[in-house]
Amino acid sequence: MRSFRSVGMDPLFIDHGEGAYVVDVDGNRFVDYVLSWGPMILGHAAPSVVEAVARQAGQGTSFGAPTAGEVELARRIVEALPSVERVRLVNSGTEATMSALRLARAATGRALVVKFAGCYHGHVDSLLVQAGSGAATLGVPDSAGVPAAFASTTLVLPYNDIGAVERLFAARGHEIAAVIVEPVAANMGVVPPADGFLTGLREITRQHGALLIFDEVITGFRLGYGGAQGYYGVKPDLTCLGKIIGGGLPVGAYGGPAAIMNLVAPTGPVYQAGTLAGNPLAMAAGVATLDGLRAEGTYDRLNGYMTALAEGLRREAREAGVPVTVNQVGSVLTLFFHPGPVTNWESAAKADREMYARFFRGMLAQGIYLPPSQFEAWFSSTCHGEAELAATLRAAQKAFRDL
Ligand code: PMP
Repeated sequence: MRSFRSVGMDPLFIDHGEGAYVVDVDGNRFVDYVLSWGPMILGHAAPSVVEAVARQAGQGTSFGAPTAGEVELARRIVEALPSVERVRLVNSGTEATMSALRLARAATGRALVVKFAGCYHGHVDSLLVQAGSGAATLGVPDSAGVPAAFASTTLVLPYNDIGAVERLFAARGHEIAAVIVEPVAANMGVVPPADGFLTGLREITRQHGALLIFDEVITGFRLGYGGAQGYYGVKPDLTCLGKIIGGGLPVGAYGGPAAIMNLVAPTGPVYQAGTLAGNPLAMAAGVATLDGLRAEGTYDRLNGYMTALAEGLRREAREAGVPVTVNQVGSVLTLFFHPGPVTNWESAAKADREMYARFFRGMLAQGIYLPPSQFEAWFSSTCHGEAELAATLRAAQKAFRDL
């Protein structure tokens, strides 16, 4: 994704970030909608995060032993997510989903996992099957190097098609350990869940004794402090987190009810470990970030910004006569160059990637840094405000007209 290959350019090399902006090594300043692919929800170099990390760095950066920082972060996660009683900290979203699947298989004694086409859950071997994000952008949804036997443990269905889930479970429900889903898909571009999709997954998995895993690596602490599960009121069995909970340092986490989490070593037989897991710097950055999100009105402001941006983009595209679909939920958004609706990977894949590439270059030339792919989410931070909104829409007006 960083290679800019799908937009036909060389990537920017970033010198530093400040709030809603990044500055490249040539001194060009951009409004940043990549935000490290989501973690920087308080903007770059947020003073409270910098201070927390600096303080911790002065006291040591890793011990391979428990620290209070892990407990502080875990407590915040458990308080925010009623479905999570116990949580395990790892180093990336990939580790979180990989570990959650291992746990789900152990808990159910079953092997198969259901995922949805266009959803991305990190580069876990068995999940690189019809995956989104970079895999989709490069047109190679399946990675070389994944043995067929691994891929065959994953069953892939279309996103938002609850009938397909019902039919699969009717036939093979007793073999399925878990359904893993992005509750708002954000790696085929943003695709919101259709009415009844998440509640349908909850009912069907429960009926068949399979676990429901929400991959909230993007949505966790972004759609609201309670993540997508709070936003939509659906309680998964296991939750995967990453990105925001590390405030820009490497992190991941998975959690759920004590009865399931107790199967993880040392209390149970499921192995999982990590030299740098619960890393003190990441804990300090994560705690400072979550605390920064607790200020009154934070999510109204964040989500209001993206709603205004979505409306403005639709208006500018219409006035320029460019058919687009803007999918937006909270502070994630994708502008698809396709009349839509975009509801799953099949419809997302119809978007005009060449036109996106031209639009991307037009925006970059005017100081607006969008994700360098049609199939990624745009992110905003608490630092994005009136000035950035106006600059973005002014640039979009010209970029649409120049297409
Ligand atoms: N799940 C989702 C929904 C993601 O968006 C990502 C990364 N973008 C991951 C998992 C993997 O996380 P990481 O890159 O930290 O391994």
